[in-house]
Order: sequence, then C-alpha cells, then structure tokens
Amino acid sequence: MNSNQCSFCGRKKSEVQMLVSGQTGFICETCIEQAHAIVKESAEPAGFSPAENISDLKKPKEIKKFLDQYVIGQDQAKKQLSIAVYNHYKRLLHAKDENREVEIEKSNIIMIGETGTGKTLLAKTIARELNVPFCIVDATILTEAGYVGEDVESILSRLLMVADYDVEKAEKGIVFIDEIDKIARKSDNPSITRDVSGEGVQQGLLKLLEGSIVNVPPQGGRKHPDQKYIQVNTQNILFIAGGAFDGIKEIIERRLNKQAIGFSADKLNKIEEDDYILSQINAIDLRKFGLIPELLGRFPIVTYLDKLTRESMVRIMKEPKNSIINQFIELFKMDGVKLEFTDEAIEKIVEETMEKGLGARGLRGTTEKILENYMFEIGDLEEVILKKEDLPFTSK
Ligand code: ADP
Repeated sequence: MNSNQCSFCGRKKSEVQMLVSGQTGFICETCIEQAHAIVKESAEPAGFSPAENISDLKKPKEIKKFLDQYVIGQDQAKKQLSIAVYNHYKRLLHAKDENREVEIEKSNIIMIGETGTGKTLLAKTIARELNVPFCIVDATILTEAGYVGEDVESILSRLLMVADYDVEKAEKGIVFIDEIDKIARKSDNPSITRDVSGEGVQQGLLKLLEGSIVNVPPQGGRKHPDQKYIQVNTQNILFIAGGAFDGIKEIIERRLNKQAIGFSADKLNKIEEDDYILSQINAIDLRKFGLIPELLGRFPIVTYLDKLTRESMVRIMKEPKNSIINQFIELFKMDGVKLEFTDEAIEKIVEETMEKGLGARGLRGTTEKILENYMFEIGDLEEVILKKEDLPFTSK
C-alpha cells in the first residue's frame, strides 16, 4: 500500500486535496465524488416505467386500497380518482397501439372541497403510488403572459425540476393545480375589460391542458427572449385541479331548487345535508362560479370532498400510516421516551382544531403546541401519557 497516492486513480498526494485512508488503501476526493455518483445512480428507484400491458396496471380497486392507507374517508373522491388515473395510464398503453382507430382523450380532474380536507394529499398519494413526477402549483401566482407574475409555462418548469430534467419522465407526470377557484372570472358575463388574473390565466392554461408541445423556460418564472426553452409535450400529463370554491353550495342549491332539497332537512344533519348538496355538483355550477367553458371541457371529471366530521378528524389523528400520533411517538422514541395519547386527549385536540377552521391541516399544529413543553424537557423524561387535563387549552 502506497500511502502517497490514491489507490483508485493513482494520483499522487501532491496532486490531490486529500487522501482518505482505508484499511488497505487510500482514496482521493475526486474518486469519492465519482463513487458517490455511481452509488446514487444505482440506488435510485428504477423510476416510472410505463406498463407494457394492461395486466401490469394496478386496477382502480387496488389504487383505492392504497389511498385508503393514507387518506381517511373521501370515498367518492378516491373512487373517481382511482378510475381516472387507471384510465389515464390505460390511455397511454392504447396510444402505443399503432392500429388503434379510436383516440381516447385525457381525463383531467377537478376536486372541490374545503381547505384541509385532503385534496392535495390525495393527488400526492396517487403520484407516489404510481411513482411518477408530481408537482403542486398555486394558480394564484400565475398571470397572463406579459403581466407581473409567472407564466403558465412555469408549471411545467416545476414538473421538469422534480423529474430531474428528464423530459420523457416529466411528460408522464401529474400536476396538481391548487386554488383553481381563485382564477375564476369575477362575474358570470364575459369580461369587457381584460381580466388579467382570472380569465386570461384560464385561457393560458388551456394550451397546457389540451395536450400540445409547450416551450418551457427551464428555470421557471418569466419567459425571456434569449432563453433556451425545453420542449415538453403535455399530452400525457395528468392535471388535477383543486379548490374550495366558496359559495358553490349556494349555486348548486339554486340550480337544484331549494324545495327539492328541503325533504332531506329532517333526515340529515347539517354536515350530511351540505355533503349531499355538494355531491350534486356539475360543470354548470362551476361555469356559474366563473370557470370558462373551454377550461371545464378539459376537466371532464368533477369530484368533491366531504367536510371532515369530528369522527373523521379523530381517525386522521390515529389511522393513516404516517398519522400525526405515530410521527410524534416515533420522535419521542428516538430519545427513549414512551409517548401515549389517551382517547380523551385526542378528542380534545380535535375539538380545539375544529374551532380554527383549518380542516385536518390544523391538527399537526395543535399537537405540536401541546407537546411543546415535553419536547423541550425531553432529556429529563421517560414516559409521557397525555390526558385531557394535561392539555394547556384555555377554551372549554
Ligand atoms: P387541501 O384539501 O387543502 O389540499 P391537504 O390535502 O393539504 O388539504 O390536507 C392538509 C393536511 O391535513 C394533510 O397533509 C394531512 O395531514 C391532513 N389531512 C387532510 N385531510 C385528510 C384526510 N382525509 N385523511 C388524512 N389526512 C388528512
């Protein structure tokens, strides 16, 4: 063993910055980097390989089962999403068939539901199951080309980024467009003056949604005349849009005619009635809300998420694979501290969170807050059993 040179490339000690010694040899910084790159590359999951035939595709029921592990309730949305995703990837298989006579069109999806009910979580979980690139964009940052804000093409820049600039991979990805309701036209009438943030953006989105080759600025942001573009074909990218659509319930109600719903009043409680009305949603209501017909035409599937009840919030605390409770138990366990939540403590956390109106999104924050002191003192603890009376809440 020569202690004066790298055993891999043979460079002398004087030619390198450092030599790290092993039991029987040395390695220089350049070889470490190269070796690291090799390890990283081979350790990465194989990535998305499009199914070769239909039997390779997970059936809608299996997709839903996967979603069930992470998302509580929302059965209708899960079902529609599983079917849509299955059909989407079936369509990819079909497109490879050169003798095909029928062209199957894409089924992008709109999800309607209050904040924190699981829209993003559903889209994210589906993408994880399929092992395809996934990105979330907020529709409110988009503006019509030529105005302050980001061009719609920047959506694809993000997808490219998460796909490590592998265009082919990105072209089979899923994009979640959040807050799509915020780019609604402000009134039902087509605007006379230009509507920069609403209708113009909807028009801009059309070209992404319909499946065309789009010039994408690699770094996102604004398009620049002398920037090099990457061409991305959006034909096989699945778009899932989500929004709270505040006020949509009243629009549906008006369409359905209040009387027709009145019958349910004695049988259903408030939440059930709201869910029932929401379940009747269709494109007409979304058009009334301010989405342009051309855009709606590109989102043939409209689904809704139920309001979260107290029971579903409790289940969200406990049941998902990476539930909030499990996450904190795990964190405490790393310090050898046993953490236990009593049922009444969980109920109290749920109660407190529901008052904040953040949906399930607030659960983590509430839990974080009550554990704050325990986490600070963690070095001195052995066991924490959270009871209702330990919770530092002021409200009754
Ligand atoms: P939004 O509907 O506003 O997109 P998210 O999907 O981002 O809401 O939900 C916020 C967080 O709340 C999630 O990360 C998850 O922890 C929790 N959550 C919301 N809904 C559910 C649900 N149905 N099942 C499990 N967790 C949920």
